[in-house]
Amino acid sequence: MGVVVVSGPGQYLPDPTEGIINPADLPQAKLIRRSRNFAHRPCPDRGKSCFRQTIYTRVLHDVGDLVLGRPRDIHLEYSQHRCTRCKKFFNADTSEYALPRSHYTHRVVSLAVRLLVEDGLPYQAASWHLWRDHRVFMPFATVQNWVEVGGKRRPDRCG
Ligand SMILES: [Zn+2]
Repeated sequence: MGVVVVSGPGQYLPDPTEGIINPADLPQAKLIRRSRNFAHRPCPDRGKSCFRQTIYTRVLHDVGDLVLGRPRDIHLEYSQHRCTRCKKFFNADTSEYALPRSHYTHRVVSLAVRLLVEDGLPYQAASWHLWRDHRVFMPFATVQNWVEVGGKRRPDRCG
């Protein structure tokens, strides 16, 4: 069930963000920097140590900061390497944070799946719950998209 915001004895304060549908009007996300950026990485095929070619950044929406009431975005820097033997490019592994192509962390995905599958919430309610109790902005079209992908539940798009 929902958490009631109480300030002072028994005083109920409604969530000031209730009804906001434009993400630009939401409180600004707190930025967390993480790095999977390496000078060298072993080639996944033959283990040869390979130089870094490029640095990329993935933005991942994580569970928010409930004390500040703000969402939290992880800016995850990762390196891309090129194997001179296989002539192939590969990226530093970022799977401890998120699935490939996902814009949400593993923590957020498990939360959303729990709300939809275990609690059986409708998309819009799940989307609102994620925002209200976890400060994750996930438009309900995104939540819906997961379900319609059918069992896979991998968010390929961000809204
Ligand atoms: Zn190689």
